[in-house]
Amino acid sequence: MQFQNSERLFELSQKRIPGGVNSPVRAYLSVGNRPVFLKSAKGPHVFDVDGNSYIDYVSSWGPCILGHAHPKIVEAVKKASEDGLSFGAPTEREWELAEMIFACMPSMELSRMVNSGTEAVMSAIRAARGFTGRDKIIKFRGCYHGHSDGLLVKAGSGALTQSVPDSGGVPYDCVKHTLVAEYNDNNSVEQLFTANRGEIAAVIVEPVAANMGVVPPKSGFLPFLREITKNEGALLIFDEVITGFRLGIGGAQQYFGVVPDLTTLGKIVGGGMPVGVYGGRKEIMETVAPLGPVYQAGTLSGNPIATAAGLAALRLLRSTEGIYEALEQKTKTIAEAVSETFGERVCVNRIGSLMSIFFTEQNVVDFNSATSSDTDAYAAFFWHMLESGVYLAPSQFEAMFLSAAHGSVEIERTCEAARAYVKTESLK
Ligand SMILES: *Cc1c(COP(=O)(O)O)cnc(C)c1O
Repeated sequence: MQFQNSERLFELSQKRIPGGVNSPVRAYLSVGNRPVFLKSAKGPHVFDVDGNSYIDYVSSWGPCILGHAHPKIVEAVKKASEDGLSFGAPTEREWELAEMIFACMPSMELSRMVNSGTEAVMSAIRAARGFTGRDKIIKFRGCYHGHSDGLLVKAGSGALTQSVPDSGGVPYDCVKHTLVAEYNDNNSVEQLFTANRGEIAAVIVEPVAANMGVVPPKSGFLPFLREITKNEGALLIFDEVITGFRLGIGGAQQYFGVVPDLTTLGKIVGGGMPVGVYGGRKEIMETVAPLGPVYQAGTLSGNPIATAAGLAALRLLRSTEGIYEALEQKTKTIAEAVSETFGERVCVNRIGSLMSIFFTEQNVVDFNSATSSDTDAYAAFFWHMLESGVYLAPSQFEAMFLSAAHGSVEIERTCEAARAYVKTESLK
């Protein structure tokens, strides 16, 4: 496979864009720093600037659950753009989208549109603090909630020590209210509540962790979070930027039957356009301006094109019978083929249409077990798959996202490519 045009564009881009990319994971740093530049995409496929085509499992990191450039979504975008690209005034479609979100997730009594998942999370936390009058929040190691200052944090050296910034440019003071617990570890949460009684505004969690690779919640973990937050007068925030409309039309909250106070959405809710949404219980969201004292605004929020794309995507997801069952079945087929082929060397985690292949013999249930993975082994597998026409995430710690456009031909080709890898390896 040739990558000359990608290589040339990468050189040019590095001269004008930090690292040549507009979001760091795209630089392929953890698999060798030779990114592929894409040109177009259709259905389950993406096409690069050298004329190579791939079966895509990145799906723009989640949004393209209906496949790329779905004709109905493209049509909605074309039609909306002819009516004007932005007004900065309320429109009928924003109400339609909020109503649609409420129909899918009844906990979203009031919701506000923003332009990214980062913004949605940042604003939900502000609302939680405004509502409770408390400053501290608990997040989990390995969960990602966007790049706002207060969430780029890692745990200090001891379990109850002060958190420290996990990025340059973030002052210690910005993370001093963010406490870090262990995913799937009830005890770590209990300890933080005990040590900070009456001070915790909210617990924020990815109901299925999908930013350290896919790590589903242990049974009882989410109900425990619901219970302890309720007892302690804190709010429970589900960051459903990935799981919303992916685990099912009602997201993780429907899938697990655990209802949070606030929810953040992104990715699928924009149908491929930049959208985030935060919302939840009416009395909490009524603290947001103009109703209440919690300020939050956005010049392009509720943008008519983005709203049209999101609405078209949600309408399709709602009206396509059996779409989630089919997605799950296809994911299962790949997961089983990979498990069978690689045996004990990998841990395959799968839930709904999300999966990860961890190159570790451990059972991956949290950040420590996830990071026990052999990232060099993943990188070698990644390049084999890419050269076989299968586009996986260029990092061990990202999910594979299946779409409704992946057919049995694509699924079988993917399984074959994985089997061929193990064969070529054993020849070495
Ligand atoms: C992607 C993601 C975000 C951030 O969304 P952006 O649109 O990239 O700002 C937040 N939370 C989770 C769980 C995500 O996966």
